[in-house]
Amino acid sequence: MKGTMKAIGKWKAAPGVQLVEVPIPQIEYGELLVKVKGASICGTDVHIYEWDEWAQGRIKPPLVTGHECCGHVVEVGPGVTGFAEGDLVSLESHIPCGLCAVCRTGLQHICTNLKILGVDTAGVYADYVKIPAICAWKNDPSMPIEIATVMEPMGNAVYASLCEPIAGSSILITGCGPVGLFATIVCRASGASRIFAVDINPNRLEMAKSLGAHESFDARDPDAVVKRVLEATGGDGVDVVLEMSGAPSAIKTGFKALRKGGRFTAFGLPSKPVEIDFNNDIIFKGARVIGINGREMFQTWYKMAGLVRSGALDPRPVITHKFPLVEFDKAMATMRSKEGKVGKVMLIP
Ligand code: ZN
Repeated sequence: MKGTMKAIGKWKAAPGVQLVEVPIPQIEYGELLVKVKGASICGTDVHIYEWDEWAQGRIKPPLVTGHECCGHVVEVGPGVTGFAEGDLVSLESHIPCGLCAVCRTGLQHICTNLKILGVDTAGVYADYVKIPAICAWKNDPSMPIEIATVMEPMGNAVYASLCEPIAGSSILITGCGPVGLFATIVCRASGASRIFAVDINPNRLEMAKSLGAHESFDARDPDAVVKRVLEATGGDGVDVVLEMSGAPSAIKTGFKALRKGGRFTAFGLPSKPVEIDFNNDIIFKGARVIGINGREMFQTWYKMAGLVRSGALDPRPVITHKFPLVEFDKAMATMRSKEGKVGKVMLIP
């Protein structure tokens, strides 16, 4: 497709973003051109916006940013089968090489040569985005745009929660940002027996409760959290911890509240190395620690699509704000605000 489009991205190596007019991406072999219908803001986009140390080392301006989106296929490149113009797709942001040993043994989502949409390649905060067809997920055409937009971040929660079966299990979720909130819904939809939610933000705890958490706790009193969780689980501790915060204190709380032989699921990213009581928290406990990066390609997507189709999983209550894409600064200010109930912030091009 010829012409130009509006896009939001990093045109200067400095905090903030710019609204620019750029050429529409030209697709090549194996690629699709997608007209973006909805996008959303991830924690990664906040780091890029704030231009922190990680962003400075990773992002090479000029770059259209953003990686969570859905849209309609408007052009199908040569060599692509299974997609047609008009398909409603959500995008998998992990772009694998398909050829490394990791990819070839079925772990494409952590490919050795992994590229990330909107981080290493032009992203979705634009009218159009091009994507390798392997990273497009075809949705039911009747799926509401809000749901299709957040399939990628919800996929983190589905992968983390359901990397092993959880029906009848007790769950502790530490960190109730958007992925923690999605996880609350996923756990509830999947038959968890008891969901304990922990955060420092009372608004988020209130949201977790309204989405199905049975009990919520202020993370700043870790002893009270562990005491109550042990009490509620007959002294054993929870079957599963979903660590969504990356906060060292929450990681510690999670291990203390985990039962022997339980599963500690690590998703939140600590900003620096964390000290762990290896002996008591992992070895003597017989704990299984599972790292979650992205979503399994595409087991997570099949599972998630099935749960959405069943009606058991509806992520829309987590989407608390919507802005036109051109009001990106306002959307980002909302996302970064510590006040009020902020879950997922959505953008409409
Ligand atoms: Zn690879």
